[in-house]
Amino acid sequence: MRLEGKTILITAAGQGIGRASVLACVAQGARVIATDINMDALENLKRESDFIETRFLDVTDVEAVNALAAELPRLDGLFNCAGFVHHGTILELSDEDWAFSVNLNVTSMIRMCRAFLPGMLQRAQETGSVSVLNMASMASSIKGFTARTAYGTTKAAVIGLTKAIAADYVKQGLRCNALCPGTVDTPSLRGRIADAADPVQAEKDFIARQPMGRLAKVTDIAPMVTYLLSDDSQFVTGQAMLVDGGVTI
Ligand code: NAD
Repeated sequence: MRLEGKTILITAAGQGIGRASVLACVAQGARVIATDINMDALENLKRESDFIETRFLDVTDVEAVNALAAELPRLDGLFNCAGFVHHGTILELSDEDWAFSVNLNVTSMIRMCRAFLPGMLQRAQETGSVSVLNMASMASSIKGFTARTAYGTTKAAVIGLTKAIAADYVKQGLRCNALCPGTVDTPSLRGRIADAADPVQAEKDFIARQPMGRLAKVTDIAPMVTYLLSDDSQFVTGQAMLVDGGVTI
């Protein structure tokens, strides 16, 4: 199993890609600390395996982030999955919405990394290999999409952050990569479809931009998560890994 003996923390693990990633990591032998602000979702997830430990963690709460890092054992893997999709052009983006997106999509990852990297670097001295994975998107520096100003800009910043961390720690056994999914069928995507003026057309439009003719399932994304968190990817760092169903062919 790919992740035997590894301890991995995942944020936004209550639903969607985060939840699927927890289950995939456990199936590959990891002990997973699943965090979210939705405790009901975490309780439901915990019932899936004895190897899942759940914690309430609002990734925008710096004190809680630092307290959790001080309490937990040194991690082998950290998956910063939390993020938010703001819908709108630059002319529809308020300063408040921009600040919210920056805080949740980027600053939280900086704080998570500042809190957990010292322990992970110590762990790397013991094992030779630890891995950080940051959730970006194909909607980022990779490709522009309509009504995704805050989202695309912040996810581009995640790719820059990932490369900076990768460059700084490449000689110390710490790898850092970004994950860039296409359009994935998750509860928040369903919410964006439901909020559209014409939900039926909105779903058709999301599918139409995927050349494979369907949305990604969370299980299409999770194998890339286990790969990037495992030693199978030990020669891979600083990369923005696309799993986009051919959007960027
Ligand atoms: P989702 O949006 O359906 O679920 C997000 C989870 O984050 C929820 O469980 C929620 O409780 C939790 N959360 C919200 N605020 C939080 C906070 N402050 N601290 C901790 N947890 C918080 O999940 P998803 O659609 O799988 O998206 C997960 C990540 O994947 C996001 O970063 C998103 O930008 C990215 N992504 C999603 C898609 C997609 O099409 N769904 C595509 C590319 C990238």
